[in-house]
Amino acid sequence: DKPIPAYRRVLLKLSGEALMGRGEYGISADVVERLAGEIRELVEARVQVALVVGGGNIFRGIGLAGRGMDRVTGDQMGMLATVINALALQDAVEHAGLNARVMSAVRINQVCEDYIRRRAIRHLEKGRVVIFAAGTGNPFFTTDSAASLRAIEINADLMLKATKVDGIYSADPFTDTSATRYTHLTYDEVIDQRLGVMDTTAIVLCRDNGMPLRVFDINKPGDLMDIAMGGDVGTLVDN
Ligand code: UDP
Repeated sequence: DKPIPAYRRVLLKLSGEALMGRGEYGISADVVERLAGEIRELVEARVQVALVVGGGNIFRGIGLAGRGMDRVTGDQMGMLATVINALALQDAVEHAGLNARVMSAVRINQVCEDYIRRRAIRHLEKGRVVIFAAGTGNPFFTTDSAASLRAIEINADLMLKATKVDGIYSADPFTDTSATRYTHLTYDEVIDQRLGVMDTTAIVLCRDNGMPLRVFDINKPGDLMDIAMGGDVGTLVDN
């Protein structure tokens, strides 16, 4: 008999940079394939998996805004970048043998489905991986905020934030050797100490709606599955 997972439904936030691998830009086929393999393990263990993917590997709205581009136009470009990443993930997840659906917060319905909450939940119940694209659909937001919002909307049991380090540290572990990792924090500690794991909007949404958040290293194979099985991996943020 297979072990029973600790969570019925999770939402995993992948930044655009998580798809780049060693590259400087764009999408690494190897990385996307590996991620799809880890997602398959979860689905095979009967965990319902929703994804929110960022776009920073392709475009960030703020990038050209500093050089005179209209911020709203830049953010719309950023949202379209997330659709590109979502399509790459959909393809990889289906190659891994699962069913997947991209649902976009802005209408691009010759390319993917529109985001409709009840339909998203139905897909999840049928074991399909749902990939939420185009963030919240609004400029001046981030895909982290979109991840918090969607996690709450679909009644996820846990939001997972994939990062390059294995949790939240007291300082940047890449530049500060004295940095230590927290195993548990409250939302208010994250905000008050400006720990910068996600923007404040995203944290506050989780806090005000009691959505627990676990921050972990996406580059450690198996950690995702450990978390799904209830493992104390990375940093847990709750009340
Ligand atoms: N974006 C937006 N509204 C949203 C989500 C994203 O306008 O709700 C735009 C914004 O320009 C952002 C870009 O899309 O810079 C890519 O998203 P993000 O920076 O969150 O991606 P990540 O850092 O996760 O790769």
